[in-house]
Amino acid sequence: MRQKIYTIAIVGRPNVGKSTLFNRILGRRKAITESASGTTRDRVHAICKHKDKGFELIDTGGFLLARKDKLVGLIEKQIRAAIHQADILIFVCDAKSGITPLDLEISQLVRRTNKRVILAVNKVDNETLKEACLDFYQLGIGEPYPISAMHGVGVENLLNIATKQLTPTDEFKEADIKIAIVGRPNAGKSSFLNFLLKQERVIVDDKPGTTRDSVDTHFSLSNTSFLLIDTAGITHKKKLKDSASFYSVSRSYQSIRRSDICIVLIDGFEGLRIDDLKILDYICKQQKGCVVAINKWDLVKNISADDYKELLQSKANFVRFAPVVFTSALEGRNIAKTINLAKNIFEIRKQRLDTKRLNNMLTSLKYFKPFVKGAKKSKKINLKFITQTNIEPPTFLIFTNDATAARKQLGNFIENRIRERFDFTGTPIKIEFRKSSE
Ligand code: GDP
Ligand code: GDP
Repeated sequence: MRQKIYTIAIVGRPNVGKSTLFNRILGRRKAITESASGTTRDRVHAICKHKDKGFELIDTGGFLLARKDKLVGLIEKQIRAAIHQADILIFVCDAKSGITPLDLEISQLVRRTNKRVILAVNKVDNETLKEACLDFYQLGIGEPYPISAMHGVGVENLLNIATKQLTPTDEFKEADIKIAIVGRPNAGKSSFLNFLLKQERVIVDDKPGTTRDSVDTHFSLSNTSFLLIDTAGITHKKKLKDSASFYSVSRSYQSIRRSDICIVLIDGFEGLRIDDLKILDYICKQQKGCVVAINKWDLVKNISADDYKELLQSKANFVRFAPVVFTSALEGRNIAKTINLAKNIFEIRKQRLDTKRLNNMLTSLKYFKPFVKGAKKSKKINLKFITQTNIEPPTFLIFTNDATAARKQLGNFIENRIRERFDFTGTPIKIEFRKSSE
């Protein structure tokens, strides 16, 4: 049985350095930090490891923004939820600004939770500031631990304290299935995500650029755990000229590369556009698993799902292997089905076919010999032996008398025959040819 994963939440008012600390703990740049207050708005999750202890880390983002901001209610709610969900809290304050009224408010909130609270005083970039740290005893949380998230000072010690009571995890699994939800802006990615997680983990808002963190979100469904790659890229609304936005956009390609399976959301109402094709093409090139979700299906009238699918496949023939599902993120239709398809594809990509069965298939292809002979009668291509050499993506090696000709003339043909005989729904497959020795 899987061990319980403890959750540590980083809380504190805006701009104290929560995201910087989050990134520092994760050890790679995950979220974009900006000095303008309140740019970090989402609760972000990641599975981390400190020494032999694994835990889930949550960065709660901006705490109590200006009242006029309409997101404030949502954010407060999210942070309360994070506090509720966490086993341990790291309450971050700022040595440079000293104790502020907001710090006092938050300290009351966290004290009331009865959770273990560790007080981190950030921006202690030098020895002088260390003294200022003592003031923070006034918050009544206990010993203030000085850190400089930016320079990585004191963070190791903070983690030693925070993870002290956690039991070591022998083999800490990150997440089983890495999924990237991709698609053009407004295709419905964040609506999809929100429905899926059934909690307000991601803020859906029509304003561009509401979410800038690059976030991985962990969730489990029917005993399978998933890691949703870069949910900020998902919730992020494309807005050129904005450097943070640009950074997020370029990362969407990175998330495709990091994923096992991509869910491509297409705005079913608008139809397939060039950018959709680019995304699909990139996924194929990266040899990732793929589910195509035609979203906003509630808005589509006058065309049947079958006709829609046919039209789509005629425009994007290269991605015929991907299952097509018709979703409504707004109404929550077929969201779970999409995830289940992704899960199936993950299994399919891991399967190893028996060599004997594969060669039975190859032998049966003799029936297609006229097809195989193709253009040149003189150059008869003999397919001698087939074996599966790899998984994720499934890769096959075929020994033949003429590898170059076989590659040119038979690649697609054999792929189609393999797909007819075996189930490789949702994944690209690779077929390699090698000249056999005799
Ligand atoms: P958050 O709103 O609490 O998530 O804060 P951020 O992580 O976005 O950081 C707010 C600002 O404080 C950014 O400009 C950071 O570069 C800066 N900052 C974070 N940690 C440190 C630190 O250890 N020392 C100093 N001097 N600045 C820091
Ligand atoms: P994203 O930019 O891909 O994250 O798209 P959003 O999730 O922000 O959705 C963009 C707009 O489309 C929002 O106004 C959503 O309410 C709307 N939307 C998303 N999914 C659906 C859907 O399935 N049906 C309908 N009718 N509207 C949707």
